Amino acid sequence: MKNRILLLVLLLSIVVSAQTDDAKKLKEFYNASLVNGKSYDWLNYLSNQIGGRLSGSYNAEKAVKYTKGELDELGLDRVWLQPVMVPKWVRGTKEYAYVETAPGNSTTLPICALGGSIATPLGGVKAELIEVKSFEELAILGKEKIAGKIVFYNRPMQAELISTFQAYGGCVEQRYKGAEKAIKYGAVGVLVRSMNLRLDDYPHAGSMSYGDVSVSERIPAAAISTNGADLLSTMLQLDSKIKFYFSQHCKQLKDVQSYNVIGQITGSMYPNKIMVVGGHLDSWDLGDGAHDDGAGVVQSMEVLRLFKQIGYQPKHTIRVVLFMNEENGLRGGKKYAKVAADIDENHVFALESDAGGFTPRGFSFDCSDVNFEKVMSWKSLFKPYLIHYFEKGGSGADVGPLKGDNVLCGLRPDSQRYFDHHHAANDTFEHVNKRELELGAAAMTSLVYLFDKYGVLQDSEVKK
Ligand SMILES: [Zn+2]
Repeated sequence: MKNRILLLVLLLSIVVSAQTDDAKKLKEFYNASLVNGKSYDWLNYLSNQIGGRLSGSYNAEKAVKYTKGELDELGLDRVWLQPVMVPKWVRGTKEYAYVETAPGNSTTLPICALGGSIATPLGGVKAELIEVKSFEELAILGKEKIAGKIVFYNRPMQAELISTFQAYGGCVEQRYKGAEKAIKYGAVGVLVRSMNLRLDDYPHAGSMSYGDVSVSERIPAAAISTNGADLLSTMLQLDSKIKFYFSQHCKQLKDVQSYNVIGQITGSMYPNKIMVVGGHLDSWDLGDGAHDDGAGVVQSMEVLRLFKQIGYQPKHTIRVVLFMNEENGLRGGKKYAKVAADIDENHVFALESDAGGFTPRGFSFDCSDVNFEKVMSWKSLFKPYLIHYFEKGGSGADVGPLKGDNVLCGLRPDSQRYFDHHHAANDTFEHVNKRELELGAAAMTSLVYLFDKYGVLQDSEVKK
């Protein structure tokens, strides 16, 4: 009996001291990120010295060079570029749009071409608008009402949803598939209400697809600011015959070669078990891509830098991957996963930060119950940093293709302001708060540290 009690006390003291060690380690990560962090400086350079980094652009290549150079400086075990062919879509001369308020009178409206759209014919498109809120409505109106008109998709993001990503998910099909659907009914163009909860004058870019519609049948698609959309909707209620004009000069060019930027600290005990932390290096072109996803890029780089600074030698191989072309093709994410599969690499864990550089709230996990239980046991360690959100759910677009017998997860920052900036001209450096960015980097480092220390339980091991 006495021995049993002693054993219990011993076990308990081991658990308690591990918890204390972990708490100390997390504090070190947070201190280093907040006091001597590098993430904000990196983001400043990416945003203000380079700027928007659309795939295939000169800026995207500058970003590849810059981040590779910065990773080289960190003294990692290996830094390299992974070639990937990416689509190259260019916006061309700035778009122009107006609505005719009376014969001879017009008001200009802020629009932007959607990524992947074709240009308008020379001289632009001028036609009546037909406003719809859903594809069902479009089908009911049919060819008779739609042919020869510009379809105006105006379903707003749902304000009552607390997760703005959920609100985005409920609307974004209008942007992505709107043109493909409208073409079937003879529309001559598509105008989409920007994916933004706020009323303002910024049109928000984003990718769209024509599905399998042939090149000759394609119609131009643009986004309009939320204020612009509300104005058009009001005008249409007064006069359904008003005419809308828009011109855009975008073009899809041939694919070009670009790169994923990769660096790693090789694991001391399990060099063949890889843990990835990453974000995407490309961005839309209207702003400087500070939140989407410059923040994720610099936070991921910071995870490895903090390990080096603190002198933490990971047991697993920790790899930072800056993915190219998340926005309009996901080629970087797909390529990375393909190469990993081809050379039989074992990815046990991947964490992505691609939800803005706002105050971190927690993480979402795509993993088995046994690994999720492990995460839940670490909750108290994160409490002092106000990290409380640990939910099962998605991870990130770039790490998605790595799905297998592993843990995938995503940093979940507060999402309330994200869509004020997402893919718009105001996604810029000054809208990223230094401390919020650094807290995110520290939270990510903490999670990677805990998984490195305690391991990921893979199915193959559970069955043993
Ligand atoms: Zn993104």
